[in-house]
Amino acid sequence: MEKIVVLATGGTIAGEAASAAEAVAYQAAQRPVAALLEAAQALGDGRHALEARQLVQIDSKDMEIAIWQQLAQACADALARPDVRAVVITHGTDTLEETAYFLQRVLAAAPGSWQQQGKAVVLTAAMRPATARLSDGPQNLADALTLAADARACGVLAVVAGKVFAASEVSKIHPYRLDAFSPGDAGLLAWMEEGSVRWLRTAAPWPQADSRLWRQVQDTPASDWPWVELLASHACSSARALQALLQAGVHGLVLSGTGNATLHHSLEQAATLAQQQGVPVWRSSRCLAGHVVPGAAAAVPLALEDGLPLTPVKARIVLLLDLLLKAS
Ligand code: ASP
Repeated sequence: MEKIVVLATGGTIAGEAASAAEAVAYQAAQRPVAALLEAAQALGDGRHALEARQLVQIDSKDMEIAIWQQLAQACADALARPDVRAVVITHGTDTLEETAYFLQRVLAAAPGSWQQQGKAVVLTAAMRPATARLSDGPQNLADALTLAADARACGVLAVVAGKVFAASEVSKIHPYRLDAFSPGDAGLLAWMEEGSVRWLRTAAPWPQADSRLWRQVQDTPASDWPWVELLASHACSSARALQALLQAGVHGLVLSGTGNATLHHSLEQAATLAQQQGVPVWRSSRCLAGHVVPGAAAAVPLALEDGLPLTPVKARIVLLLDLLLKAS
């Protein structure tokens, strides 16, 4: 039987609270991966050959570049092994969509031919700590193992609350409910049902990628990565925050615009000047649903990936990796 490698990083799925009734005041990233797997397997899912590793133990709101580098390397090492079918990552919900998208982009450039074999990385998480009376972590992890073992799972996917998402489409949209993630207009990839996967669409193959990106990601110390910030346009925006960032040496900016990625005129003016000074600035939308409809070319370009508008946090990752590659 092909193996699934489980990499644990912390999050609420590994969180502990003082009482079983508590689902808000708790400490994330406490339980080791063995305890998470034991709880998932107690749900009757003992059918997979597993290998587990506690990579880090953090609240994912504190995610760092050095951990992403470590995670990418651990995924690539596992996926390059002929006996491994997939990797499952337990993660916090807060930055799950960022890690998922980062890995989708970076692992596509990793060495080996496992991408053509359609191997998968599946992220999962929980909204309630492991100590909660009705914690969602065990079921989500059991679903992630089932999904990872499915031959149709390919690329980086996420599964939470029985819903399966593509890394490029998943966003956290709710701060509390178990069903906290949405695929936006793209729709779900699949549903988890009674220990099996009901596919609604085919998971996309790993994209083509520049292999230099992999070397840059692994060889550039975290302290030398480009500095890319996210700034929102809002009522009463001014140019000051953007100017302060420029003065502090920011390398790239993503502006989370209003509506169809529109910018307050003061911010737009400052962004245009920043671009003239050689600092790339991209536009995205702060709207929580739907996506930007591209219009005429503007002074501040829209953040796009394969022609599709990106959410602000994903645009930040694309710009970060673009600048990293350009530095090679
Ligand atoms: N703050 C937690 C984290 O992202 C939230 C969670 O996992 O639900 O690690």
